[in-house]
Amino acid sequence: MPDSIPPTFGQPWPARDATRITAVRTIVTAPEGTPLVVVRVDTNVDGLYGLGCATFTQRWHSVVSYVEDHLERLVVGRYPGDIEDLTRLARLSSYWRDGAVANNALSGLDMALWDIAGKRAGLPVHELVGGKVRAAADTYIHAGGASVEETIEQARGFIEAGWRNIRLQVGQPGIGSYGAAGVGGGYPTSPYPDGWRVEEYLRNTPRLFESAREALGSEVELLHDAHSRLTAKQAVTLARSLEPYGLFFLEDVLGPEDWGQLPGVRELSPVPIAVGELATSATTAAQLILGGGVDFIRCHISAIGGFTPARKLATLAEFSGVKTAWHAPGDTSPIGAAANVALDLTSPAFGIQEGHVYNDATYEVFPGTLPIVDGWIRANETPGWGIGIDEKAAARYPAGLSGHDAWAAGVRSPDGALRYP
Ligand code: MG
Repeated sequence: MPDSIPPTFGQPWPARDATRITAVRTIVTAPEGTPLVVVRVDTNVDGLYGLGCATFTQRWHSVVSYVEDHLERLVVGRYPGDIEDLTRLARLSSYWRDGAVANNALSGLDMALWDIAGKRAGLPVHELVGGKVRAAADTYIHAGGASVEETIEQARGFIEAGWRNIRLQVGQPGIGSYGAAGVGGGYPTSPYPDGWRVEEYLRNTPRLFESAREALGSEVELLHDAHSRLTAKQAVTLARSLEPYGLFFLEDVLGPEDWGQLPGVRELSPVPIAVGELATSATTAAQLILGGGVDFIRCHISAIGGFTPARKLATLAEFSGVKTAWHAPGDTSPIGAAANVALDLTSPAFGIQEGHVYNDATYEVFPGTLPIVDGWIRANETPGWGIGIDEKAAARYPAGLSGHDAWAAGVRSPDGALRYP
């Protein structure tokens, strides 16, 4: 941290007590191979610190630099209870605002401050913000096989393990499909034999759901993720072809470049539309909620700045007839997952929670990681998020460059053109 901090960054009003932020740093670890970025905020009170999730796994070095080279100097010396002011300061101080790097860094700070607030109050974060409106959050889990049979078999296993909601993806020739493996060289006469063909996808996805309903019955809720790969017309075609199978929601039909067309798609779609994991600002997410193009808002909350903006979005959703479905696969740290659950349990707008079953190494690195039991996820009742970090264990799982950007840059059509991943 630089020696001199300009006075404009000092405490702007008298604080309630002498608690002050003394340091902000990052811890990066990859217990599942996916780099997870954690921000730790220390204070001058013995043993009082907070942890936040800043995981932008594809560009984690940039987030580390943003936190340690830019954010720390803004907040050291400040009273940690001024969360709204501190996070506004962090956001506005760059003049050019938002974006995934800046907002993940900001999220790390924001969640760490909520963790500190909870520890100071002796309350879990969900109680700090009004308390529960439900006992647990229902989750969905991912089944994705190379064939329809393989996908259904996986789904059956999840149903037996207690899940009531399953996202189904099925492979196809070439690179496969999002969330499901393919057959290498599937388009041997094409310029790019490992390509992804939208026409094939639009044919095989309804077949998957037809077979799934026959095999799994009507009780289980089924979901699907198009992962931004469609045009507006293709989105409507897919949504209509899936109508007979009663989807819980159809996710990310359009990339953010085309979100202006969502209201038209939703109007013509007989199944609920869920969008938002690629939003990199709360403003964009708010426009999605207000724009009439989504039934479910599902941001990666660290990418929009953390718990504070996500809470505002949950409130906006509550008054807009939109439900929440926060993004939470393995590229969300257990701290981010706990923040999602705090939103789920306190918001009347809750729709469903994406679930991820962390491996044993993650439980070792992050004591307090929330398990999913019979498909349900519950909050810790300990102060703050109730999640710790064992830095010695974290160091045993060093992060490399994320493999996630390799797959994101690897989706091409059979003619060789890059597609949205
Ligand atoms: Mg998704």
